[in-house]
Amino acid sequence: MTSKKIAQVLLCRCSKNKNLFGITIEKRNDDNWDMMYSYPIDEERAKSEGFDMTSIVADVYSTASYGGCPFCKQTNFVRCGGCGQISCHTTGNTTNTCGWCGTHMTDIAYRGKMKLKTGED
Ligand SMILES: [Zn+2]
Ligand SMILES: [Zn+2]
Repeated sequence: MTSKKIAQVLLCRCSKNKNLFGITIEKRNDDNWDMMYSYPIDEERAKSEGFDMTSIVADVYSTASYGGCPFCKQTNFVRCGGCGQISCHTTGNTTNTCGWCGTHMTDIAYRGKMKLKTGED
C-alpha cells in the first residue's frame, strides 16, 4: 500500500445563493472519504476543468476541520434526486433546495453510499 493521499474534488452549489464551489475530499479506506476543505470556483473554470471526469461510489463524511460551504457555512451536502448534482446542506435537515435545478427536496435522509462525479484535485 502506498501512503500517498488520494484526493478528489466534488463540484457543489450553495443551496442558498447558487454559487459554485469545490469540496476537496480525501479517501480514508474502502469507500469512505472525508471532506477536507472548500473553496469558491468560478463558472468558467468549472467548465474547463472537467469536474465530472471521474465517478466514485462513496460515503463522504464531514470532518471537524471542514469549514463548510464557503458562502453559507453548511457543513454537509445533499444529492438532488432530480438532477443528480450536489448542494450544500445541514445534517439533520429534511428539506433543501437544489442549487442546480431548484428542486425542493422534502425527504432527505441518509441512504448510504452515493455515486458521485468528481474531478482531479
Ligand atoms: Zn451554501
Ligand atoms: Zn437538482
